[in-house]
Amino acid sequence: MEIRIEQIVDILGLERERRSQKADSFNVRCPFCNDHKYHLNINTAKGVFNCPRCSTGGGKLDLYSLVRFGRKYIKGDREVFHRLLEEIGEDNRNFEYKKERNVVENKYEAILPPSDNVLHEAYGAVLRFKPFALSEEHRQNLLDRGLREEDIERNEYRTIPAEMPWIKGYKKALKVAEIMRKPLQNRGFNPSIYHIAAGVLLADHLAGQGYNLKGVPGFYKLCGHWGFNLSSGMLIPTRNMNGEVVGLQVRVDKGNVRYLTVSSKGLPEGATENISRTHFPLGNPVLRNKGAILLTEGPLKADVARLLMGGASPFMALQGVNNTRDLSSEFQSLKEMGVSQVVEMFDMDKVINPNVSKASKKIEDLAHEAEVDFTRRYWALDECERRYADLLKLAAFNGIQVPEETGNVVVDTVGAAQALYASGKVKDYFSGKALWDPSSKGIDDYLLKQMKAKEEQEAKLVVLPNKETLTENKEESTVEHSSGLLQAVKRKFAF
Ligand SMILES: [Zn+2]
Repeated sequence: MEIRIEQIVDILGLERERRSQKADSFNVRCPFCNDHKYHLNINTAKGVFNCPRCSTGGGKLDLYSLVRFGRKYIKGDREVFHRLLEEIGEDNRNFEYKKERNVVENKYEAILPPSDNVLHEAYGAVLRFKPFALSEEHRQNLLDRGLREEDIERNEYRTIPAEMPWIKGYKKALKVAEIMRKPLQNRGFNPSIYHIAAGVLLADHLAGQGYNLKGVPGFYKLCGHWGFNLSSGMLIPTRNMNGEVVGLQVRVDKGNVRYLTVSSKGLPEGATENISRTHFPLGNPVLRNKGAILLTEGPLKADVARLLMGGASPFMALQGVNNTRDLSSEFQSLKEMGVSQVVEMFDMDKVINPNVSKASKKIEDLAHEAEVDFTRRYWALDECERRYADLLKLAAFNGIQVPEETGNVVVDTVGAAQALYASGKVKDYFSGKALWDPSSKGIDDYLLKQMKAKEEQEAKLVVLPNKETLTENKEESTVEHSSGLLQAVKRKFAF
């Protein structure tokens, strides 16, 4: 048995506003404040209510209990539950928890994102929004990672500023933001009033231009207005194989969690599924019959690594090692295009981090299901040796048996880490953030470090020639030398 929130509204005799009736919500006169209009919103999809005027909100049983008994509903409140069953004409002699659970639980309604070209259109407009122009600080950050100006332009990175003083000029958006703030907080979203207002300004503008925003992750509709859920930081587009923008990530400037997927899950009209998509960098070589594709974690990392690797090998990236929902179908498409191998290049802490190993194993299974070969690549083996030595010391100190040495430092490190992890004795070691030297953790970090080291070495070799000794030959050998570096890097990672 399911009692719908509409039934409760009718039992309580709340007056509906006819013109506010939508597919999954309508408004009623709020019984909790001296409401002369229709402030209380009833969300029929989620079975929740909220009044932005007096900030009263909750589930459908709360609505019933607050009106009839003046208290929120607490699980197992027989008095409230029996009265409700009585009012809707149900047999109320037996209080059954199962019955209660069925009533409390709302039928979950999934909201799927629209097609990729609709996503691309909406996100394209977000990227063209002038207040989100890339900041100089972020541009420098991208240059420091090894990207060139032209890559930065083409890839369309943007900045969502922490401070937006200009929004103060938009009184209407600020007013809407004030109304939205409480219902947003009630749903666990806490953006600043300026971020809400900027999101309203952007989203209202797009909706007014006829953009379809329903289910586009990040967009939501609250109190009759569209909004866009913003966090400050660097905005990084996620693209599908055709280069269409199908998702956005924010790299937060400070804090432990660095990358957030732009989402409005849990807000009205916000997509609930398939939000974190697999990324394919712009500038990838044509995938058809390419042989191998390199898989990393994080769209920005893939953008950078593809370039530092010389551009000949195609890349793909997950938004996080566990965001594998669309991977099966991506592998299938790759297989059909003639890609025969996936090369996993997750961050090197994978040799120690058991969660990453597990995720990698799952991806291997998905690849095999799609009949694509799967291998893993490792680098910074000197660092791996140091970590192995640390693990052996820890094992000896705690009296933990590790597998016999094989001579392959990666295999040995993985084995030792797993034994230590399984023992449960050195939890602190695994929960620490510093499992790996940041300068060689990601393939992008590692390639950049190598290139810088080579450049430094070359700089030392340069002796200013005087005009008499400068010959054609010498110029040629310099060219060869630097392209030799690229060749060496390519050879090292040749697949
Ligand atoms: Zn109210």
